[in-house]
Amino acid sequence: MNDFLTIIGAGLAGSEAAWQAAERGVPVVLHEMRSVRRTAAHKTDGCAELVCSNSLGNNLPHSAPYILKEELRSFNSIVISSGDHNSVPAGSALAVDRDLFSQEITEKISNHPLITLKRQEIVEIPQSGPVIIATGPLTSPKLSEEISRLIGQEYLYFYDALSPIVDANSIDYDKAFFASRYGKGDADYLNCPMDENQYYTFIKELNAAEKVPMASFEKPVYFEGCMPIEVLAERGPKTLAFGPLKPVGLPDPLTGKIAFAVVQLRKENKESSAYNLVGFQTKLTYPEQKRIVRMIPGLENAEFFRLGAIHRNTFIDTPSLLSNQLQLKSRPDIYFAGQITGVEGYVESASMGLLASLSAVAEIMGKDYMPPPRDTALGALINYLTTSSSKNFQPMNINFGLFWVQEMKIRDKKERNQKIAVNAMDQIKKWRQGLKDSIDSAA
Ligand SMILES: Cc1cc2nc3c(=O)[nH]c(=O)nc-3n(C[C@H](O)[C@H](O)[C@H](O)COP(=O)(O)OP(=O)(O)OC[C@H]3O[C@@H](n4cnc5c(N)ncnc54)[C@H](O)[C@@H]3O)c2cc1C
Repeated sequence: MNDFLTIIGAGLAGSEAAWQAAERGVPVVLHEMRSVRRTAAHKTDGCAELVCSNSLGNNLPHSAPYILKEELRSFNSIVISSGDHNSVPAGSALAVDRDLFSQEITEKISNHPLITLKRQEIVEIPQSGPVIIATGPLTSPKLSEEISRLIGQEYLYFYDALSPIVDANSIDYDKAFFASRYGKGDADYLNCPMDENQYYTFIKELNAAEKVPMASFEKPVYFEGCMPIEVLAERGPKTLAFGPLKPVGLPDPLTGKIAFAVVQLRKENKESSAYNLVGFQTKLTYPEQKRIVRMIPGLENAEFFRLGAIHRNTFIDTPSLLSNQLQLKSRPDIYFAGQITGVEGYVESASMGLLASLSAVAEIMGKDYMPPPRDTALGALINYLTTSSSKNFQPMNINFGLFWVQEMKIRDKKERNQKIAVNAMDQIKKWRQGLKDSIDSAA
């Protein structure tokens, strides 16, 4: 057993894991392949690059994603603090300027005296641990094979997709209007209203548009929250109008009426020079994407900073393979963190980086470690990952359904959420206190 921690992958989970260990005085060697080898989605060499949406999710007090963020904040999470420092207005969501966000994390990681950042692709799992594997949904093929061999199982996989980003200067602001749904928070979203005729013509063309074909051996399995727009459209002509294009709470200031459907655009950066189409993940071919997006009122002349794409996602069968300390049962000096464990989302991935790191640090220090209790957001996630039925195991975002606390019986949603949030923060505080008697005793 080494007295330092090896981490593979400097994404959301790996960066958080490295930071947490180093801040506890444990030296870290962090391996990141970008700059030597690219993935299909990352565009930069920066740590914790956000590959798709620039949103770290809901930040509205007492929502489940907010509770998770608050718990991470209480651990001085590098991901959440950099998110807070580089936020851009996005209603109740914590959206960030992705470049500044990643830049801050890269600088902190690179400048930390106890972290050595090595730019190389790891193709073999180190013989001696502790090692955290945090290589994410786009783990390089060679390492994927190694992990497959190590766990003695075929990889599980599914697909999710990127949505297009348009140049703010190419939007027609006479048609698109700024508003947040039901007027909640600032009017941060740009909304493109469609009448009934425009909507059904759009659906017809979307259904007929050319898609990128799947490789013959790959059966698409989408995560519900990341479903491509054309797959949703195939479910029925009204599906989009009741889903990502729902118009409720967004009256068009031109007519004073609620349109038949509304496409929402969210700011990509502080300067508001780029907007992404909310919920428009797609596997349409590039020319077809341009044609279809330009059918949206207000986007007739849209210029694209980035087009949508699809990518394979990867996760292991955590319920059968990992302990609740995120250790591989068959080789406990190996830990997994991030999306590869079967959580879904940037913040959830960072959360597993935090927990894997605390667990590995305890091992290095020879101290006790118990995972957080189930009535916290962190505990709810780890509980889901490690106690679900392996047969139907699917990636999961944080949500109240995972908490399983007494308060879930309260009918009034507001009161319920508030009670769960207060209790979770109380429990996380106690749990942190427990860590002060073990790995944080020197702090
Ligand atoms: C296309 C796509 C879009 C997504 N969109 C969203 C979204 O909009 N919102 C959201 O919340 N979540 C999204 N996700 C899901 C998930 O939240 C992100 O993928 C998140 O980045 C996962 O964090 P991670 O740390 O597990 O992996 P990553 O952030 O991907 O980090 C893994 C790192 O490991 C590196 N690596 C891989 N193999 C090796 C190797 N062999 N050696 C060394 N380094 C290696 C990679 O270069 C990468 O930097 C998306 C996922 C994908 C694939």
